Amino acid sequence: MPDNLSPSILKFREEFSDFLMNNRQLPEEELRKLSLREGYYRMSQPVGLGGQGASPMQMVVARETIAKLGVLSPTSVIGPEPGLLSEVEGSLKADYLIPLLEGEKKASFAFTESKSDSPTVADWDGDDLVVSGRKSYVSGGHLSDFMSVVLTVDSKKTTDKNGPAVVIVDSDSKGIEMGEPFYSLDGSSHVEVEFKSVKVDAKNVIGEIGQGIPRALGNIMQERIEQAATSVGLALYALDVVTSHLKKPHRSGGTLSDLEGVRLRYSDMRINSFAARSVLYRVGRLLDSGDEAINEVTTAKIFCTETASSVVDTAVQLVGGQALIKGHPLEEIYRKMRSMRIAGGASDVLRLNLSKGVFEFDSGTV
Ligand SMILES: Cc1cc2nc3c(=O)[nH]c(=O)nc-3n(C[C@H](O)[C@H](O)[C@H](O)COP(=O)(O)OP(=O)(O)OC[C@H]3O[C@@H](n4cnc5c(N)ncnc54)[C@H](O)[C@@H]3O)c2cc1C
Repeated sequence: MPDNLSPSILKFREEFSDFLMNNRQLPEEELRKLSLREGYYRMSQPVGLGGQGASPMQMVVARETIAKLGVLSPTSVIGPEPGLLSEVEGSLKADYLIPLLEGEKKASFAFTESKSDSPTVADWDGDDLVVSGRKSYVSGGHLSDFMSVVLTVDSKKTTDKNGPAVVIVDSDSKGIEMGEPFYSLDGSSHVEVEFKSVKVDAKNVIGEIGQGIPRALGNIMQERIEQAATSVGLALYALDVVTSHLKKPHRSGGTLSDLEGVRLRYSDMRINSFAARSVLYRVGRLLDSGDEAINEVTTAKIFCTETASSVVDTAVQLVGGQALIKGHPLEEIYRKMRSMRIAGGASDVLRLNLSKGVFEFDSGTV
């Protein structure tokens, strides 16, 4: 079976590629509407909420295909995923999950602390929590309707619950101060957010207080597998750009593909892309099996982002000066790739997590 993908996933990949090839030039909003009509936009959302409940492997293939075809705004093709809110009920479902999935509300994720010596905390005030602290790098925070804030409930009374938690906070709550948006080299925008005694109903805690870290980790794992899939897609995209460039007439008289030194570099790009894709698909299969795969997702995030970075870097080198001109496809994906080795966890910090998984939790496969 090609790539060890099931016939249904292969069929999906073919049809999805055709859909993107035919429509990738459309403006983002038009592409979003068309994707919604064709059933792709809600593919990752639960069946019970009107989605198609796509498998992890199908989502891996979808994200890889989007990046491979040079569509740099995946959210216009695949809509929001439930993420942290996937199992909520009651008011959290009605007020946040459903509007999120229907595109009526936007969410952001406030995890990274601004000051490590005074992390974000919440104290009890009757049935409310009062949130104080500062988060440093909230992507799209200024555009979001609500934030999922990772914090520690720090109770003064022994009778109250305490521990790490994830709390939904409306972005326009009294006491929230957002800094001016800043822009990272991949083109995305972020804000620093200060919480100055922000009152939040305790019903807005997702799951149990004390379970905040596993919940946040689940969300981050989702981000990491998406980054691995996007990286592999971008490496394949860079390969396509370089392959066609190397076949074109060059001022040296022939084509660059005539040169042995160029062929050596080019073959390394293919070898590395092949390896990264193999890692990605293996992790996709592990996730489909339902096995715990934190160390393997971490492995894929590190390997695929670093390998794709080297592939894209070589692609820029082989295409030369024109690849550095603003607007060239390689210039854009070079910037995008660079940020993925930090966003979602810096590579070396993840390497330490990986060893911790083995030595302290006896988990992970090779
Ligand atoms: C594009 C982008 C989007 C982001 N979006 C969000 C978001 O939506 N929400 C959010 O909460 N955060 C977000 N972040 C923040 C992101 O999670 C952090 O940047 C990331 O976790 C790294 O933390 P840091 O920047 O503080 O770097 P640091 O943790 O300071 O690490 C910097 C470097 O120091 C070294 N280092 C650090 N610790 C160790 C160690 N223990 N051992 C060895 N070396 C070490 C490594 O070389 C590492 O690369 C985003 C970041 C980017 C770039």
